[in-house]
Amino acid sequence: MPIVNRVGDFSGEIAAWRHDLHAHPELLYDVHRTAASVADKLKSFGCDEVVTGIGRTGVVGIVRGRDPGAKVIGLRADMDALPLEEETGLPYRSSVPGRMHACGHDGHTAMLLGAAKYLAETRNFVGTAVMIFQPAEEGGAGGLAMVKDGLMTRFGVEEVYGMHNYPGLAVGEFAIRPGAIMAAADQIVIALQGKGGHAARPHLAIDTVLVGAQIVNQLQSIVARNVDPLEAAVVSICMFQAGHTDNVIPQHATLRGTARSLSAEVRALLQKRVREVVEGTAALYGAKAEITYSTGYPVVVNHKRQTSLAAAVAEDIVGHDKVDTDVAPVMGAEDFAFMLQERPGAFIFVGNGDSAGLHHPAYDFNDEVIPIGTSYWVRLAETALRG
Ligand SMILES: [Zn+2]
Ligand SMILES: [Zn+2]
Repeated sequence: MPIVNRVGDFSGEIAAWRHDLHAHPELLYDVHRTAASVADKLKSFGCDEVVTGIGRTGVVGIVRGRDPGAKVIGLRADMDALPLEEETGLPYRSSVPGRMHACGHDGHTAMLLGAAKYLAETRNFVGTAVMIFQPAEEGGAGGLAMVKDGLMTRFGVEEVYGMHNYPGLAVGEFAIRPGAIMAAADQIVIALQGKGGHAARPHLAIDTVLVGAQIVNQLQSIVARNVDPLEAAVVSICMFQAGHTDNVIPQHATLRGTARSLSAEVRALLQKRVREVVEGTAALYGAKAEITYSTGYPVVVNHKRQTSLAAAVAEDIVGHDKVDTDVAPVMGAEDFAFMLQERPGAFIFVGNGDSAGLHHPAYDFNDEVIPIGTSYWVRLAETALRG
């Protein structure tokens, strides 16, 4: 069972919606135009209910099957763009300087709209499909905001499914795995205080550049020497700011970075060891370190039964050999994790082909994915809600 014919028929229309979203990127929770356009379309398709303002700017569209049934599943897309300057030169490129749909959320939103249109038209299922359009995936925890606003309980959602395009994976392929598929991402901010002074009299100063450099090095020993080598972890210090000139030892330094893991145990270990290593190293040199360790998105953990279902649906569409059911997890993060903490479900990757990477100024969602991803959504709903 390849692409759903009816979906193929209006894939051009879905692509046109995507191009419109692409030209009008919006950030985080400020997705007002996008959310309004999504809500208008859902209404025009004849969704039974369209609810706006969930988790600030989230939108939900509800389609009931030919027989109402008892089961309710949620299908989720994200709507927000990123703060970077687009360099694609496409006819539908961003019309807003410094903003760009560089993660393909325009494609995700358009495909889920396509699925809503098809499901409202055909209603070939028993139960209820809840189409979830969330704001603020890119660092704003919009998924959590929707959950806190009663997303699961208000609509009786029993299972949730998510999908993300994947550059480097061929168009017409899917990848998924049960268990952890994306990482927890926590933020590290270190404020160092030493003792400033003349560069020629270092013995009278406490050099925050030296202390910070030692901290950067020592932090790498956590992954190398504290984490079980069979577990995955990342500690990256990505910002180190200190000093203004060549003859002053700076009194202050600031370091920022990220800690990522694929299990709650490793996540807790990283937090504990980062604190110990930073404080211990600073103390060794007589400096003071203040650490702000903020927990971000949790691990995206796919549930077994729902992952098998998602994989089977993907195989129906693209063929058995085109679905990797044991893909290696990635250390990027996704706030769909919060929805999977509330309800069982599965997150799947759909191949975006040989495109520029996510968050790259030359990236573009591949329109060839539209019939594939949309077919996945509609078959998933029809399969999970077979009655
Ligand atoms: Zn992204
Ligand atoms: Zn994304």
